[in-house]
Amino acid sequence: QIPAFQQALPVLERIEKHGFQAFFVGGSVRDALIGKDIVDVDIASSATPQDIKTLFKKVIPVGIEHGTVIIRYEGQSYEVTTFRSESGYEDHRHPDKVEFVTDIELDLARRDFTINAMALNRDGRVMDPFEGLQAIKDKKIQAVGDPLERFEEDPLRIMRAIRFSSQLGFHIEKNTSAAILKQGEWLKEIAVERIAVEFEKLFRGEYLIQAVEACKQSGIHRFFPVFKQYPFLFDYAKGITYPLDDFAELISFFVFYHPEVTVDDWVKQWKLSRRLKYNAKAYVEALEQYKLRGLDEWLVYNMPPHLDKGFIRLVGLLFPDMSSGYANKLTSIRKNLVITDRSEIELSAAHLMEMFPDVPKGPWIGELLVSLEKKVVSMELANDYNEIKEWVQAWNPPGKD
Ligand code: ATP
Ligand code: MG
Repeated sequence: QIPAFQQALPVLERIEKHGFQAFFVGGSVRDALIGKDIVDVDIASSATPQDIKTLFKKVIPVGIEHGTVIIRYEGQSYEVTTFRSESGYEDHRHPDKVEFVTDIELDLARRDFTINAMALNRDGRVMDPFEGLQAIKDKKIQAVGDPLERFEEDPLRIMRAIRFSSQLGFHIEKNTSAAILKQGEWLKEIAVERIAVEFEKLFRGEYLIQAVEACKQSGIHRFFPVFKQYPFLFDYAKGITYPLDDFAELISFFVFYHPEVTVDDWVKQWKLSRRLKYNAKAYVEALEQYKLRGLDEWLVYNMPPHLDKGFIRLVGLLFPDMSSGYANKLTSIRKNLVITDRSEIELSAAHLMEMFPDVPKGPWIGELLVSLEKKVVSMELANDYNEIKEWVQAWNPPGKD
């Protein structure tokens, strides 16, 4: 019935036609049973990556050693993982071991939470050995098996429990939550990059307020980059009362309150990309300007347009008293900007030098261009060659008097 599964059915059928088993598994099954929209459909199969390669034209190896490939089929991607009993993680304190097994139930047993440990077969029948359906009804996140053992195997699951509670609004079951409280520090063993993925998803969750509270209550924020040196910073997270979209927005939020820890510090400690660094710096700059002057053409002009939505979210959180109507105002200013880049100013650096042949080249050119740019953007000066020239002529270049 669900279109994403419907579309994926031929993939299951082809695998099964060749004598292997195949099931839909993981987050898509969970979300479909909850009634949420699904995008990525993951498949678990008794077929090995080699088998899969012979069955489909486009197969991308993504983690052969863990038995994972991606099938490209009719414009969609499907992650297919061979049944296995335990996943190996490089940064795990036990040696990697990936044991392939023949049974879907054993594969489900290695999964983290009961809501994530269900499988759906071709006929829409749900395999649910750990009572994931009941957990959905009870709105609870419960480890498969003994939570302490499962967290010891892979401490990232501690973080995942809280991230799922943020996305789904479910509570964390008593024993699972006690294990988080007891052994949160196992998170120290986990690579920053893996924590970052879950951290970002946590702050995108609809129920992030309760998740932030859970981090705070259990103290696990003390094992996150940056917060481990500055645990008090996490208190600001309580002010994030609706989802932020990515790390650039998150960083800017914290830097706004506590500029002593800079964007560069954040990016370095969380090992984030240059793109995020660039975006975070642009947000921080725009927020500074907003604090000084509110919304104006110069602010909007200097902020890359792809950040408008994030900026609106940030202003809503950081300036609750001065944010009414700002989203529409931003859109309208953006639409009416006279220029979008300095190169569009009708009078260029070359023109300036022509106008003042006796003045040696120097920083005055750049400075003058910036003043021109500001005047044109703020509409104090039309972007018209003659008008700008007139304005420039009234100006005294260095060394002219
Ligand atoms: P999302 O909707 O965010 O993708 P998801 O549940 O699909 O959530 P993934 O990280 O994509 O999460 O993992 C897919 C499935 O693999 C999970 O539903 C779970 O069954 C299993 N899984 C993922 N990570 C772990 C882990 N660290 N330990 C055990 N099982 C895991
Ligand atoms: Mg997934």
